[in-house]
Amino acid sequence: MRPIILCFGGLDPTGGAGIQADIEAIFQTGAKAMSIGCAITAQNTKRVYKIKPIAPKWIAWQSQYVLEEFDISAIKIGMCANKTVVKTIAKIVKTLPQVPMILDPIITSGMGDDLGGTELALAIRKYLLPLSTVITPNMIELQKLSSAEVLENKIADIKNTGCKNILLTATDSSGSKSKVTHYWFGKEQKSFTYPKISGAYHGSGCTLAASLSSFIGQKIPCKKAAKMALNYTWRTIDKSCIMGRQQQLPERKV
Ligand code: PLP
Repeated sequence: MRPIILCFGGLDPTGGAGIQADIEAIFQTGAKAMSIGCAITAQNTKRVYKIKPIAPKWIAWQSQYVLEEFDISAIKIGMCANKTVVKTIAKIVKTLPQVPMILDPIITSGMGDDLGGTELALAIRKYLLPLSTVITPNMIELQKLSSAEVLENKIADIKNTGCKNILLTATDSSGSKSKVTHYWFGKEQKSFTYPKISGAYHGSGCTLAASLSSFIGQKIPCKKAAKMALNYTWRTIDKSCIMGRQQQLPERKV
């Protein structure tokens, strides 16, 4: 039977990111997503235009009835949209202390749209980082989660919150031919390098965090799961297609 991944996230009608990205990536990598809707967005592959957070009682109800019936192997958190939603999710995650939690700290979109601002970043830091098994920020999100000066201090600062592992993406400089992802697993640091695929992609971060939660939910140790999720995500980008007018959509059946 497929392990179940409880996914908190937002609806992206294009399916490039958000809830559909979770469902596709998690299914294709061997687990099953159950989605708790936390926000509805109005967007396309060009921009995120509007975000409507879901009321806390609805997030609580959705979770309650799923948790009453199913055992959960991992939790994945994506778009939270505002502080109230963050606090609501944190309350639910705290009731599942044995379940690994993978957090994609969504604060800014790939196109640079602000998806919640400083208040959201501070709330994620305060309420969700301490509960996280792995977080998957990009450089901009890391910047917003920690005000420490240099990279090493930012990592130490994030770890001090209680967050166990950090998979930091998009650390390469823009002219580079390769894409480097840094991983801090406990005290160990590792770098993964992939050939850079040119272009812009909608939902690559969601694909990475979702596939990582799927592998961790299948009891694959964190470091190996990170490598497998990076390999999978690279392939989805390599096979992605231009369906809209701007960013390409990852092809998750690879
Ligand atoms: N919309 C939703 C619902 C998301 O979960 C995300 C995830 O990051 C985005 C938009 C932004 O996607 P991207 O960073 O690929 O532009």
